[in-house]
Amino acid sequence: MLTALNKKGELFTLLGEMREQVLHLREHEQFFCPICKEPLILKAGHVRIPHFSHHQHSQCIETASEPESPKHLKGKLDLFEWCLSNQLAVSLEYYLPDIKQRPDLLIEKAGRLIAIEFQCTPISVRSVEKRSLQYLLSGITPLWIVGGQPFHKKRTIDMFELTEYHWSLTRRKNKHVMLAGYEPESGKASILNGITPFTSKKVFAKLHQMPISKIKIPLSLITDNANFPIVKWSDEKRNWIQQRVRHGDLVRDSFLRAIYTEGSNPFLLSPLIGLPVNYMESFISHPVEWQFFIWSDCLKKLKLNRKISLKYVNYKLRERITKGDIVCRTLPLHDKNQWEKAVRHYFRLLEQLFYFQSAGKDLYRLIRFFPWAPHVEETKSYEKKVMGALIKNNG
Ligand SMILES: [Zn+2]
Repeated sequence: MLTALNKKGELFTLLGEMREQVLHLREHEQFFCPICKEPLILKAGHVRIPHFSHHQHSQCIETASEPESPKHLKGKLDLFEWCLSNQLAVSLEYYLPDIKQRPDLLIEKAGRLIAIEFQCTPISVRSVEKRSLQYLLSGITPLWIVGGQPFHKKRTIDMFELTEYHWSLTRRKNKHVMLAGYEPESGKASILNGITPFTSKKVFAKLHQMPISKIKIPLSLITDNANFPIVKWSDEKRNWIQQRVRHGDLVRDSFLRAIYTEGSNPFLLSPLIGLPVNYMESFISHPVEWQFFIWSDCLKKLKLNRKISLKYVNYKLRERITKGDIVCRTLPLHDKNQWEKAVRHYFRLLEQLFYFQSAGKDLYRLIRFFPWAPHVEETKSYEKKVMGALIKNNG
C-alpha cells in the first residue's frame, strides 16, 4: 500500500519527496491502515519502492489480496503520476467501504467515477466478473490494465493469442474491442485495439506501444480503424474445422455429432455457415458452431418465402447455450446478452447477401435456399463468392 493514516487521522501518501524522507518518517511517525485501522509497517529498502504493509497474521481484507509486488507498486505510482500530468482528479488506493473494494486508482471525470485496476497476476474470470459487477452496480466504471503486455502471445504483427482472462478484461469502445497494458519496468504502455477473434484463442488486433508519457487524454489513437482482414477468414475457418475433426471425439463433441447425424460433412458445410460477424466474440464457440445450430434448429426446414423471427432464433439458440452445445464468453465490461447482437448481425449479413429479406422488425423472409455443394472444390468456390461479396460490402 502507498497510502495510510497518520496519528492525526489524515490520509498520507508516499509520493515524490515523501519517499526521500522515508527513513525519517519511519523513526518519527506512526501509520495506520485506512481500512482496518491497525498499525502498519513502513517498509523501505534500497531497491524497493517504500510502502506500507500490515503485520503478519493481520485479518484485514487488504491482506487477503495478493502480496504487493514491486512491479505492482511501481506501476500504480506511474499510472497515478500519469493521471496527474493529464490533469485528472485521481485518488490512489481509495477505499470504497460499501463494496469493500479498494481500486488502485479512482478517477473522477465529468461527474463519472472510473476505477482503475492494475492487474499484474492473472486472476479467475469469475473474480474479474464479480469485482467488475460490484463497481458497475455502484455506478463506477471499472477499467482493467494488464501489468505487462495485454495479450498472452504475439504470433505476427497483427495476430495474437488471448486467454479467457484477457478476454474478460476487454471492453468495447467506438465499435472496437480493446485492452490496455502497462509495463513498469520499461515505462511502456500498450493498447491492443480492434480485437476480433479468428478462433477462441487466436485474434486479429492492432498493437500500439509507446512510453506512457506520450499518451495524452483523450485517447484519440485508439479510435483508429483496425479493420478485420476478411480475406484471411476462409483459411482460418478451414484450419479450425480441420483441427476440430482431427481432435474431436464424437461422444463428447455435440457439434460434430450433430453434423454427422444430419448426414452432413464438416468440410461441405454451406459457406453461409461460419460467417464473421460483429459481436462474434460474445461466443467462445466458433461462428461455424453457433451458425450451424441456427441452421439445423431453425432454417433447415424453413420453406421459401416463409418468415422467421429473431425472437424464435434466439429462443432456440438459448436452448443450445443451456445444454452446453454453445458456450458464451464472460465479458463483464461489455453489454449484457451481447450474443443476441451477433445473431442480429448474422441475419443482416444474410439479408445483404440476398438470402433473406427484411419483413418487419426482427422478422426475415427466406428468399433463396442456402447453397450446399457435394464436393470440396465446389464448396470452396461458393465460399469465394460469398467472401468476395462480404469484402465488397465492407469496402
Ligand atoms: Zn488493514
